[in-house]
Amino acid sequence: MTTETVEKHPIPPGFEGAHVGPSDYARLYDESISDPEGFWGREGRRIDWIEPYAKVKNTDFTLGRVSIKWFEDGVLNASVNCIDRHLPKRAGQTAIIFEPDDPETPARHITYAELSDKVNRLANVLLSQGVMRGDRVVIYMPMIPEAAYAMLACARIGAIHSIVFAGFSPDALANRINDCGAKLVITADTAPRGGRRTALKSNTDAALLHCSDKVRCLVVKHTGDQTTWIEGRDVDVLRLMEEVSPDCPPRPMGAEDPLFILYTSGSTGRPKGVVHTTGGYLVYAAMTHQYVFDYKDGDVFWCTADVGWVTGHSYIVYGPLANGATTVMFEGVPNFPDPGRFWAVCEKHKVTQFYTAPTAIRSLMGQGPEWVEKYDLSSLRVLGSVGEPINPEAWNWYDRHVGQGRCPIVDTFWQTETGGHMITSIPGAIETKPGAATLPFFGVRPAVLDAQTGAVQEGNPAEGVLCIADSWPGQMRTLWGDHQRFEEAYFQQYPGYYFTGDGCRRDEDGYYWITGRVDDVINVSGHRMGTAEVESALVAHEKVAEAAVVGYPHPLKGQGIYAYVTLMNGIEPSDALRAELEKWVRTEIGPIAKPDLIQWAPGLPKTRSGKIMRRILRKIAENDYGALGDTSTLAEPAVVDELIENRMNRG
Ligand code: ATP
Ligand code: MG
Repeated sequence: MTTETVEKHPIPPGFEGAHVGPSDYARLYDESISDPEGFWGREGRRIDWIEPYAKVKNTDFTLGRVSIKWFEDGVLNASVNCIDRHLPKRAGQTAIIFEPDDPETPARHITYAELSDKVNRLANVLLSQGVMRGDRVVIYMPMIPEAAYAMLACARIGAIHSIVFAGFSPDALANRINDCGAKLVITADTAPRGGRRTALKSNTDAALLHCSDKVRCLVVKHTGDQTTWIEGRDVDVLRLMEEVSPDCPPRPMGAEDPLFILYTSGSTGRPKGVVHTTGGYLVYAAMTHQYVFDYKDGDVFWCTADVGWVTGHSYIVYGPLANGATTVMFEGVPNFPDPGRFWAVCEKHKVTQFYTAPTAIRSLMGQGPEWVEKYDLSSLRVLGSVGEPINPEAWNWYDRHVGQGRCPIVDTFWQTETGGHMITSIPGAIETKPGAATLPFFGVRPAVLDAQTGAVQEGNPAEGVLCIADSWPGQMRTLWGDHQRFEEAYFQQYPGYYFTGDGCRRDEDGYYWITGRVDDVINVSGHRMGTAEVESALVAHEKVAEAAVVGYPHPLKGQGIYAYVTLMNGIEPSDALRAELEKWVRTEIGPIAKPDLIQWAPGLPKTRSGKIMRRILRKIAENDYGALGDTSTLAEPAVVDELIENRMNRG
């Protein structure tokens, strides 16, 4: 829709020695597409194999027989790649920096030697509890090093972990335990977060009432808070870890043996158990971590996601540790004890790469730049964004105040299903544009298809739905226990392609702009519009902190534009401001994008990973409160009640 050309931000100085240089990108990308066997055959060797692979790629996107295999005859162990192979050189190097919720509690530096000790012991505890290769283990833990130990201990013995975000309710936990048939849950007594405590153990107790009574419960006594204790079922895992041997031989695993199941966050409905396997996933996580963040020895990498999301899997644990990196695990939240916490932690640990979500940036932006300016952020080299389209306003703020204009921003488009980055810039190689995910990563073949006809849109610019034409090693392999749903969800609508579910625009430079979920597209008088563009325009107004836009039935236009707007701290809503915003969007985008209705929203319904749930906002806009659908992944249900109340008041 926007026709003006957005200027590229040049690569800042200091990236001449980046892993991927400007001419490398085009050359390597071409090779990855024209000769995937050769390219991935070589890249696959960045990790250690117990038995090397001879077959590189064996993938088929044909509906009815979708099958994805990479390095299929190779044998490896993921925990060996994240730990053992680093020990000769890095035993004394910090693997994990643990930054607790309370800034007064000292941070902990866990070396690779200590990581090895802990993971081996925990693996032995799992074995002693009867966990075997292929068994499922649910992890319901705070952001503490034990969560990473648990993941790697599962990987060591060939058990499949499935992390359930610690903010989820007992019901959501029970559903996931039952869906994957877990033998055991690992949890903690309580989880401090933002100065409050979540009662994880008692949530687990409540969940286990709805599960088989054979499910065991390992409890990490983290805070020491009192919990109930069921003899015979509950196990004090830290105590047992002291008793067992610090030596647990790694189980040789096939490249295609599952490494983990992760249920998607549920912005769009019933959660799906996404299955990732060992070899391809690890190669892809390690490679994207190294290239996209330009990770180098001595760097301190901080991804602020929770290990309960795929971002935490790939870019707190597996990617960084496979690369022998130092990775930060942060137990807290961005605004506790004050909105300067992120930057305080960056200064304290001399963070070099900082990776967060647009929702966090927007909320910190609303608090003013003075919180950032208090801290010395000169260690930062690369900034990242993930989770939602980042509106240019937030991008520019991030660039100016956090990156001080000298840190490239990598806007990484990817999904739980993709295992790692799909479309992203690369520092030192790809110039950025605020709001654009830019270009595909190596081996990724994006295709823009017409949403209705499925016709491939050649040439630039182009607009449509984003599909991927061929497999990449990090791709999910199936949905747990439901391969048919996997095919239906991702391969049926556009045969021959993996369908991301997202809309996109490719500009005259071939840069990709994600326009939002296809389910969220609005059709106004026959014009199809992504939500991202209208929202970005609203957020660009100085009085607006956040905005969400949905369609609703409109007698003349088919669909009208309904905008929920959260104002900046201290700004009062008024009819004059409403008119001002309508006019603003008109001039920013065009008359077609002018909101028909604006509702002031003190808060927006979000998933616990911070994404706006437009599905619910659509229902409210349609005056349809009976069928809000699955709301179990909603972060703050009260926000929804408030929005409904205000909506009803307007009639
Ligand atoms: P569910 O699939 O259960 O509804 P979800 O899609 O929110 O949940 P994730 O896999 O965590 O779960 O998120 C992937 C989605 O997030 C993408 O499909 C896209 O809509 C959005 N997304 C992630 N990163 C970006 C980005 N950099 N730019 C634009 N959108 C992004
Ligand atoms: Mg999704």
